[in-house]
Amino acid sequence: MKKRLFTPGPTPVPENVMLRMAAPIIHHRNPEFMEILQRVHDDLKYLFKTTQPVVVMTCSGTGGMESAISSLFRAGDKVITVNGGKFGERWGELVRIFGGNCVEEKVEWGKAIQPERLAELLRQHPDAVGVCITHSETSTGTASDVKALCAAIREQSDALILVDGITAIGAHEFHFDDWGADICITGSQKGLMMPPGLALIAVSERAQDIINSLKGQPQCYLSLKKALLAHEGNDTPFTPAVTLIIGLDEALQMLRSEGIENVWSRHERLAGACKQGCEALGMKLFSSSPSFAVTPVWLPEGVDWKEFNKTLKINNGITVAAGQDDFAGRIFRISHLGYYDELDMLSVIGGLERTLKTMNVPFEIGAGVSAVQRALLQE
Ligand SMILES: *Cc1c(COP(=O)(O)O)cnc(C)c1O
Repeated sequence: MKKRLFTPGPTPVPENVMLRMAAPIIHHRNPEFMEILQRVHDDLKYLFKTTQPVVVMTCSGTGGMESAISSLFRAGDKVITVNGGKFGERWGELVRIFGGNCVEEKVEWGKAIQPERLAELLRQHPDAVGVCITHSETSTGTASDVKALCAAIREQSDALILVDGITAIGAHEFHFDDWGADICITGSQKGLMMPPGLALIAVSERAQDIINSLKGQPQCYLSLKKALLAHEGNDTPFTPAVTLIIGLDEALQMLRSEGIENVWSRHERLAGACKQGCEALGMKLFSSSPSFAVTPVWLPEGVDWKEFNKTLKINNGITVAAGQDDFAGRIFRISHLGYYDELDMLSVIGGLERTLKTMNVPFEIGAGVSAVQRALLQE
């Protein structure tokens, strides 16, 4: 039986990326590696739609978030964070750990924050120096309108805009420069089709100025100041994960040859097909503003999550993601972020049908798969 991974990180890794990483290790200060790193730096600018530096750090996505917070803010700084799920919650946690004065805006899970609400918060807190938002909140499968949020923030204030783009980059349209973001982060094991281990961080000119002006920040390994300085020479301040960066070079070539606009529309198309497949099986969708990276679905009435997950995995080789916190055992999440194509959506919905059948949930066999086919063949 083939194993099929449908989780929003780690995500499947293409064979050619794995093969590139199987080559013997090289030294990170030799010209061969520096040439690769330079190409990676260029391709990351293409990915984030920016002319500003995008640094590569050897850590997971959270390390990138910590790097941004600890590099940009001082103790006592007022920072607004939007918490509509596990990852928005993490922004607040990080701000507080580094001594920031966190104004946390809670948003109901499965809903996206509205730009007017952020503008109102900034009017109430004109002294806020930063706003932290999440483009695609992975725990709830919910996307926010980052373009409109950035515009609303910029209209009210000079606060820095930090975007957690960890499951949005490569799935949702994003323009770092044009939309006026100051920081955007992604991780290698999400839309980049790579194993875990790298964080990629885009840094605006405004953010660079602040980072370079601050002294004595409580950090070392995750210092963006150090990373930006090294970036100028296509270098890294510490030994990078050489093998992963070589794999990333390959993955970025794939994204470039498909074309980022096509990558975005593929994600939108697969997400649409996945949703229609689930609905055709009588399942209800969780989010009112669904992400193109991951589709959150309510478990059918009376279906036990553990049993469902076991059947999906053992009998069908499929791994999906569980619900978190209050929604553990109540929803599950199907990822289509990264290395997925149209036939993959038939596999996952076909696997769901088999699982629901085993569990005696009533539905018409083939209804889900047929809905996926219709959604994808429509055009
Ligand atoms: C995965 C994820 C993170 C955390 O990244 P790690 O690589 O697990 O540290 C943060 N934000 C979002 C939206 C994510 O999906």
